[in-house]
Amino acid sequence: MKKDIDWSSLTFSYQKTDKRYVANFTNGAWDEGGLIDDDMIVMSEDAGVLQYAQTVFEGLKAYTTKDGRIVTFRPDLNADRLIDSAKRLEIPPFPKDRFIESIRQVVAANADWVPPYGTGASLYLRPYIFGINPVIGVKPADDYQYRVFATPVGPYFKGGVKPIRVKISDFDRAAPRGTGNIKAGLNYAMSLHAIVTAHNEGFAENIYLDPATRTKIEETGGANILLVDQDGNLVVPKSDSILPSITRRSLVYVGEHYLGLKVTEREVLLSEIFEGKFKECGLCGTAAVISPVGSINDHGNEFAFASGMEEMGPVLTKLRATLTGIQEGTVEAPEGWIYEIC
Ligand SMILES: *Cc1c(COP(=O)(O)O)cnc(C)c1O
Repeated sequence: MKKDIDWSSLTFSYQKTDKRYVANFTNGAWDEGGLIDDDMIVMSEDAGVLQYAQTVFEGLKAYTTKDGRIVTFRPDLNADRLIDSAKRLEIPPFPKDRFIESIRQVVAANADWVPPYGTGASLYLRPYIFGINPVIGVKPADDYQYRVFATPVGPYFKGGVKPIRVKISDFDRAAPRGTGNIKAGLNYAMSLHAIVTAHNEGFAENIYLDPATRTKIEETGGANILLVDQDGNLVVPKSDSILPSITRRSLVYVGEHYLGLKVTEREVLLSEIFEGKFKECGLCGTAAVISPVGSINDHGNEFAFASGMEEMGPVLTKLRATLTGIQEGTVEAPEGWIYEIC
């Protein structure tokens, strides 16, 4: 039986659910793992994750399609990305088939927590791996824990999609040849001061520039950037330090194959924005799919997109509707995109 929850008034916050998946890496191998009830973790005061932030994570959603199936969206790409992230931080990768199986088990065991179709809510899944044994000299941990928990979250946009104001950050997110292209907790720790500063100044998000030249736009703290040029085609900033968003890669495919857009992935100069080369701008990620950007502020110099501050522009609206249709089962999905749990 579904939990007694007012699904559409849920926010994006943690709520403990019934089951989580845990596997431990000890003596050089992952154990067989399984579902447990206990949401608490007991570890050494000197655990590697606590001292040197040795942890990587993923984020994806389970939700109910129009015809009542519980599914997740392209979990194989989350599995691949977690492997890439783990390798970069000297964490033993969690095998891809086991990752997908752990997602299946957590969602199936918490099926009563999966919001019904039409509420806009979903069951957010958080897989992560962290160093758990005592580490005092700087080196990788020997032992690790892989865990997946689930928490129901509300619709990203309550009461309609409103464009946001963003600023160009004075802080940098990711160095060239650094860790910007992996999903590491440390990338978020160092963004917290920047986002609190932006919020205090009245902005919803930070756009980070490339640290080497500070002339090119990269992404925000937790979402990739999409632009629509004056011909109505899609332009996506390219850089080795941008996190490879699964939503962005999916939207690029949808733009090309479903909507017939020309898609260009290239370096994008901040000056091009202020020259008016683009008429729509959006941020993309699992949470919102696309959230529209109404204006970008660079040290008091503000550029307002033609799409305005009232609604998302037409190209991004069509892109978003097509991808959410694919996810919800009302638009035919490319082979392998929808992973059915039950
Ligand atoms: C997770 C993340 C994204 C979005 O990725 P999705 O796979 O689309 O959810 C974008 N940027 C950063 C920095 C991220 O950590």
